[in-house]
Amino acid sequence: TPVIGVLALQGDVREHLIALASADALARPVRRPEELAEVDGLVIPGGESTTMSKLAALFGLLEPLRERVRDGMPVYGTCAGMILLADKILDPRSGQETVGGIDMIVRRNAFGRQNESFEAAVEVAGVEGGPVEGVFIRAPWVESVGAQARVVAEHGGHIVAVRQGNALATSFHPELTGDHRVHALFVEMVRAVG
Ligand code: GLN
Repeated sequence: TPVIGVLALQGDVREHLIALASADALARPVRRPEELAEVDGLVIPGGESTTMSKLAALFGLLEPLRERVRDGMPVYGTCAGMILLADKILDPRSGQETVGGIDMIVRRNAFGRQNESFEAAVEVAGVEGGPVEGVFIRAPWVESVGAQARVVAEHGGHIVAVRQGNALATSFHPELTGDHRVHALFVEMVRAVG
């Protein structure tokens, strides 16, 4: 059974732990480099990307995260986590760094403010059985992807999910629904490496 961490500095950690457990992974929070070293894969949750990147730097996790992603550890980022996995942010806040790993440019808060949050059915390549219910909360979208990255979902003409090698990112939050098929896809990605 793969051991999958959830970066637990800020954001909706608990929901991901539950979703991973119901997709048959051993899920545990990751706050320290030693904990990162012990997982087979990692989820970077939704939350606030600037805060999360600053906390990652403060906890000495930014470089270890970059290293493990470079080494091919499977990683899945939702919303703020998607922003952390982008090689480039279109409109970064000052001092905002990313882990990177996906050759894409993201636009933060692209779908509007908190009160413009919405749900929509999204067809995700690699997820069988019909569209997933995407929850979009101050969600980013992807402006463009590089040659290595593959678009796996779009909504309203915008890219909302991307995969590059062992890295997966979605603008939306499958962990906030009872449908854990995207987490199951990620667990399979981790199994394929292990
Ligand atoms: N807008 C947030 C950010 O820029 C992300 C929101 C979310 O993760 N739900 O980090």
